Amino acid sequence: MKKHILIIFTTIMLLLVSASCSVNVSTDATIESGHEELRIHFIDVGQADCILIELPTDEEVLIDSGNREDSGVIINYLDELGIEDIEYFILTHPHEDHIGSAPDVLNNYDVDKIYMPDVSADSQIYKNTIQAIHNENTELIKAKAGTSIIDSSNLSFDVLAPNSMWYSETNEYSLVTRLVYKDTSFLFTGDAESVSELEMVKAGYEIDSDLLKVGHHGGETSSSQIFLDAVTPKYAVISVGKDNPYGHPHKKTLNRLNAMGASVYRTDELSTITALSDGSQIKIDKAEFSEEKNINKTNYIGNINSMKFHYLDCSSVINMKDTNKKLFRNRADAVKQGFIPCSICKP
Ligand SMILES: [Zn+2]
Ligand SMILES: [Zn+2]
Repeated sequence: MKKHILIIFTTIMLLLVSASCSVNVSTDATIESGHEELRIHFIDVGQADCILIELPTDEEVLIDSGNREDSGVIINYLDELGIEDIEYFILTHPHEDHIGSAPDVLNNYDVDKIYMPDVSADSQIYKNTIQAIHNENTELIKAKAGTSIIDSSNLSFDVLAPNSMWYSETNEYSLVTRLVYKDTSFLFTGDAESVSELEMVKAGYEIDSDLLKVGHHGGETSSSQIFLDAVTPKYAVISVGKDNPYGHPHKKTLNRLNAMGASVYRTDELSTITALSDGSQIKIDKAEFSEEKNINKTNYIGNINSMKFHYLDCSSVINMKDTNKKLFRNRADAVKQGFIPCSICKP
């Protein structure tokens, strides 16, 4: 849930209470508090996965959390969008490139529910993640094929894998989820490989999807032909690092996707990729803002004496003592810390 939505909602509720308004107003409130668009952000975390989904219900889903060193990128990205709560946090499987920043995400945001497969790992990052879940008292759901996360008329979010209790590969335990918003559908596969893919096809689930988050960073042992034939993706997104040592994405995988007629989008080439759906059409784009440009960038300057904040080019900044300056990357941070906007530059 976003902060400004909360503010709008609170204001509307106060208005409702104070003026004891008619039913008409509450109908408007319902419409205004939601947006019609579903927004998916494949955040560029290099050779790892991290997908943020802004649901039309104003709830947020985070699928995976990059590597350990990606927490700055992820937190900056979420903060830039004004996100404070994550309603559904999916950790597809306990490999470091998927749960790496989970403890930091749990520490920085209110997470309602966390979904993980029923498999553990003998790693420090896994232990830290479980510890953070306990510390934050977050509800942990051990999910598997058949688990329903969201089930409403226009929006559904279901777990399609894993279908077995035991696999020889940790990747095969990946929680595979399918999101459907009106006439558009999205399949998120984590690092699931051909064993799990075949199980999904055999189980007869509805897996035909407009957009496929390609399994295991485009590795050869995922995106098997039988699976792609069932998914028939129009768009395929590969989350992969530049010059990674695994040779991902594999040429054969790219060939299979191309032969399907899928448009392939790669984070190593485009950085963060967004997919927007109005319920009938999907639009793929580069992110509205590039993380690289935004990290450590100062956009506002506050004066700790006057407690006002300014644009960098405001005339009052020139005369400001360096010792009084406080730098802010985004407006929300300045407001949060009690600074008020300058009446000249109106930031
Ligand atoms: Zn991975
Ligand atoms: Zn993995």
